[in-house]
Amino acid sequence: MSSEKIPYKIYLNEDEMPKAWYNLRADMKQKPAPLLNPETYQPVKAEELEAVFCKDLIAQELDQDTAFFEIPEEIRSFYIMYRPSPLVRAYCLEEKLGTPAKIYYKFEGNNTSGSHKLNSAIAQAYYAKKQGLKGVTTETGAGQWGTALSMACSYLGLDCKVYMVKCSYEQKPFRREVMRTYGASVTPSPSTETEVGRKILEKHPGTSGSLGCAISEAVEKAVSSEGYRYVLGSVLNQVLLHQSVIGLETKAAMDKYDIKPDIIIGCAGGGSNLGGLISPFMGEKLRGEADYRFIAVEPASCPSFTRGVYAYDYCDTGMVCPLSKMYTLGSDFIPSASHSGGLRYHGMSSTLSELYHQGLLEAVSVKQTDVFQAAEYFARVEGILPAPESSHAIRVAIDEAVRCKETGEEKTILFGLTGTGYFDMVAYEKFHENKMDDYVPTDEELAVYRNNLPQIK
Ligand SMILES: *Cc1c(COP(=O)(O)O)cnc(C)c1O
Repeated sequence: MSSEKIPYKIYLNEDEMPKAWYNLRADMKQKPAPLLNPETYQPVKAEELEAVFCKDLIAQELDQDTAFFEIPEEIRSFYIMYRPSPLVRAYCLEEKLGTPAKIYYKFEGNNTSGSHKLNSAIAQAYYAKKQGLKGVTTETGAGQWGTALSMACSYLGLDCKVYMVKCSYEQKPFRREVMRTYGASVTPSPSTETEVGRKILEKHPGTSGSLGCAISEAVEKAVSSEGYRYVLGSVLNQVLLHQSVIGLETKAAMDKYDIKPDIIIGCAGGGSNLGGLISPFMGEKLRGEADYRFIAVEPASCPSFTRGVYAYDYCDTGMVCPLSKMYTLGSDFIPSASHSGGLRYHGMSSTLSELYHQGLLEAVSVKQTDVFQAAEYFARVEGILPAPESSHAIRVAIDEAVRCKETGEEKTILFGLTGTGYFDMVAYEKFHENKMDDYVPTDEELAVYRNNLPQIK
């Protein structure tokens, strides 16, 4: 162990920044199941994806063997504007909890979009630009991905069309305006602009929308507009690849001080931040070089890992995207309207799903009032106002640190603090006024969606 005192924040110098992304799948013996064509149910070929996705991104998506992808110079110079993100030793939190555990968090909220999503947004926009496209389409739920993508597109001079889940569009006008400030056009979804939107509106009049539905609209728009492709902010392997920059920076910073985490914790929506954070550490575990405990934290109201099934499912409500084998609640699943904490996607990254299936990754679900309690505690002690999504990881990091206090174990805990919560004050308000409930779906409710899963052998 280095005898130097660990600084409150560990930064990397510019020349210590990662120069390549790491593809975790290269070190997996049992690879994630391939994406399937939604019409033929056969493994999807690169050509079949080209109408929807950018070429270089398809190559990254389908590549299960190349361990490192060089980060293009232009992306690295964009990263430099807001990276490296700080790795913080949570001295204040440790002291307040009175735990012998050492707690670290990697903070991704230090950019205008307020989350880790910018790491993949700039990469996806870069490859779209390189291909000579005019623009990209996407969906956004709470708005972080749409904001990140509009920042990246405005930097590179690409057009950006965002379908925003209707309830968020109405509840988060400020997010919407940030996106418009960066030049994006923002449409509430479901809309009457697309065929799939009109169909969904007919079937469910007055619906407040869902991510799966907004994805279908964005895909349709991309496919039917000359010079446009669709980009997605989570779930896909390419997004995990880009987000590996989080884990690579963390590992490099920890290595400087000989720090070895025992437990690595991240919140899981579609799995991209968690996949990125754990990538280099999981790589070591897969190669038998080191061992770590990895914990995915999800909301009890949208429990894909802990109560979903491992099966092929549609990534979107309109069933236009390829099918992915993943832990899923079913593509029609929409979390209760009382759920405020984000992480509302019905499925999970196929890579993380396979790791969970093999027992290499654990998962826990937490109730939202417990999440907001942890968020508030953390804000008061460490000063950062956390995003509700990130606070799922805070909750479990605190629980683990308290356990160390009881057992006297000096574990080193690392968690991902994915973003800030400035745009989530309506949810914080609900919590403060005791208007937040902890609705958890019943087995019967979940069974309804599960029974609609596509039947694939
Ligand atoms: C989008 C988002 C998440 C969840 O997405 P993943 O792909 O699971 O990482 C978590 N935290 C914040 C702040 C987000 O914006």
